[in-house]
Amino acid sequence: MKECDVTTKDIDMLTGTIKCVDVAVKSLGVRDDLRDVLVEPWRQLSVTLPVRMDDGHVRVFRGSRSQHNAARGPYKGGLRYHPNADPEHTLALAMLMTFKSALVDIPFGGAKGGIQVDPKELSEQELIRLTRRYVRNIHHIIGVNRDIPAPDLGTNSQTMAWFMDEYSAIKGYTPGIVTGKPVELGGSVGRAESPGRGAAVITLLAAKDLGVSSNGLRAVIQGYGQVGASAARKLDAEGQKVIAVSDVTGGIYNSRGLDIEALDAAVAEGASVTEFGGGDTVTNDELLHLDTDVLIPAAIEGVITTKNAPGIKARLIVEGANQPTTVGADMVLAERGVTVVPDILANAGGVIVSYFEWVQNIQVFKWELERVNGELDRLLSRAYHATWEISQTKKQPMRDSAYEIAVKRVTETTELRGFLK
Ligand code: NAD
Repeated sequence: MKECDVTTKDIDMLTGTIKCVDVAVKSLGVRDDLRDVLVEPWRQLSVTLPVRMDDGHVRVFRGSRSQHNAARGPYKGGLRYHPNADPEHTLALAMLMTFKSALVDIPFGGAKGGIQVDPKELSEQELIRLTRRYVRNIHHIIGVNRDIPAPDLGTNSQTMAWFMDEYSAIKGYTPGIVTGKPVELGGSVGRAESPGRGAAVITLLAAKDLGVSSNGLRAVIQGYGQVGASAARKLDAEGQKVIAVSDVTGGIYNSRGLDIEALDAAVAEGASVTEFGGGDTVTNDELLHLDTDVLIPAAIEGVITTKNAPGIKARLIVEGANQPTTVGADMVLAERGVTVVPDILANAGGVIVSYFEWVQNIQVFKWELERVNGELDRLLSRAYHATWEISQTKKQPMRDSAYEIAVKRVTETTELRGFLK
């Protein structure tokens, strides 16, 4: 892949990720041949998935699994059900996983799977058949020591249960083939909350380092799903003020702070965020420009762009979602002195507790929640402080520092294993 030419445009995810790697490659003086190994996928598999629909006709779906790099351990990464989850998209996300795992120093490489489907359009029975077909078509390239999928957008612990069941039917009982399973099937306590909890922990660390109020810190969160809601709960539990949240229908804002418990109760009853009456409704665009200390984009990629970045009032952005900030927007924010904690650090709590789940499955031993959260906070804080220190010393964005640490680790392992000898 040729080196990317990045201007201040809102470029696509894959080019954006390669750009991050290239900045680190240049700073570390990585050789050209090694650089090519870092950006090329080791394996990509595209599969065709014929599924019998409830009305009797057969619909053919497209799926893929992108295995980016396994220099540091088995491939690891989520499975996304979304109309845009094509092979290029999953490759960009797989690349993020490689560097995310390396940054927090857990023994995994990076992968991502996808099926191009809107899961809301399918019945439960159709989703089960689709998931089982996908497992049958990719089982030969995954394994407990090869590639371990997990939930992502459009999939959840139930999807992982079906996945594990189908894989076990082929290979024998194998709970460790996926993480993010229901706890009753070998999932880890604390896994569901982990990416959001991690984003909240990182928010508090960064707010302290930046001298932003640690008493009644105001947070705005876009996306009230697994990541966003868990981040809100943790910040609320820590005595901070979550003043606005949103879902795909829009947002809700209350400058005095939202009642997160009441909001959760409403959402559990099936309400959208905008149907909860605890504040004024705002659009997702307006939400980004609210007066706040921290903004946590926790929905989808590409929401912070060169268009809206100039109007963002937060001093701190913590990327709960993967790639919510375009490369162009990143430059605008850096110029404006806004600190951005990059996705590969901010939402790494998910893969960290996935790692703990995998370890528990291999050892056939369950950890208590206290141990899970304690180890999670320890690994995340260590990665955060290492990243922050480099940024302070080199006076550069945290994203550049995070990639420097990660790229150095992947490069060292690649050399040690003698791949290029
Ligand atoms: P989710 O499906 O549980 O929640 C997504 C939320 O975003 C929902 O509230 C949805 O309504 C909202 N949303 C969707 N489109 C939107 C839009 N256009 N504008 C505003 N809101 C929108 O998903 P999740 O698991 O919380 O994942 C969110 C992000 O975090 C994704 O980028 C995912 O890759 C990333 N992530 C997830 C995990 C994990 O373990 N779940 C770990 C790390 C990173």
